[in-house]
Amino acid sequence: MKQFQYVHPSTQQSVLDAINKPGTKIIAGGTNLVDLMKRGVTAPDKLVDINRLPLKGITATKTGLHIGALALNSVVSEDNLVVEKQPLLSMALKSGASPQLRNMATVGGNMMQRTRCTYFYDITMPCNKREPGSGCGALEGFNRMHAIFGASPQCIAVHPSDMCVGLAALDAVVVIAGRKGERRIPFTGFHRLAEDHPETDNHLAKDELIIGVEIPDNNFAKHSYYLKVRDRQSYAFALVSVAAALDIDNGTIRQARLAMGGVAHKPWRLFDAEKALIGKPVSEESFKQAAQIAMQGAKAYQYNAFKLKLAPASITEALKHASGLV
Ligand code: SF4
Repeated sequence: MKQFQYVHPSTQQSVLDAINKPGTKIIAGGTNLVDLMKRGVTAPDKLVDINRLPLKGITATKTGLHIGALALNSVVSEDNLVVEKQPLLSMALKSGASPQLRNMATVGGNMMQRTRCTYFYDITMPCNKREPGSGCGALEGFNRMHAIFGASPQCIAVHPSDMCVGLAALDAVVVIAGRKGERRIPFTGFHRLAEDHPETDNHLAKDELIIGVEIPDNNFAKHSYYLKVRDRQSYAFALVSVAAALDIDNGTIRQARLAMGGVAHKPWRLFDAEKALIGKPVSEESFKQAAQIAMQGAKAYQYNAFKLKLAPASITEALKHASGLV
């Protein structure tokens, strides 16, 4: 591993000053970054450890919940406020990684983790995300884990997070600090599709810092579910995952939120399927129709065609669980 400088500032301003230089990376839990450094995928000159910043709080506000960027995944998943008000987020977090990793990983770091495409981690293979212009090993390679929505000829990788799928469904907002002050981005607009720049995963500028996430209050706590389909029951990334949240009034769906993981370069929100559910009765038929709408535009590659069947079945199943049908 390349030698690097390590600093651990104690104020937000000193972090912003430190990251405003090329070759600098932020470290918090380090559960992805250290792997990337060991494998030579990334080689920063300087690491800025932000763990001394006071960004661990989970608080109720007038409009929802605020979760600090340094709150640990394990702590958020067990927090009473989160479990009571946003159980979907708790479920999504508990399905991610392993207890040991959740105990180190932070909310901000979870958002910033990179794809787990094996070609990205193998520096002997071409990868446009790691080395723009070098090609994509997965396009003609073993692409079983890869995207079925929104992929580009440059990159067909998927975003690996479970937490982010839950936050996308819950209309969360990302709070960001920069040298010009704070700004907020809707969670669904934080990550980006690969398009012609697969090397860029999200819309965070290099000199900005995630300081928290806000989740607005909603009526989904009674009827939400996170379904993750994977090769083994723990410590595995999603083949397909679904975050489903429903607001049900007397057997009729008033509002719906749906997002998927394991299918796109970003958490994939299913807006059309959500609209189709409004006013429908709680029934398997309603859910199957929504799942079919959600699959419009899906495209498979050589080894991931199974996702074209697995994804709608998972949407239907998640909605059945969320609604209480099963
Ligand atoms: Fe790299 Fe993306 Fe292709 Fe994977 S899918 S090899 S991350 S360019």
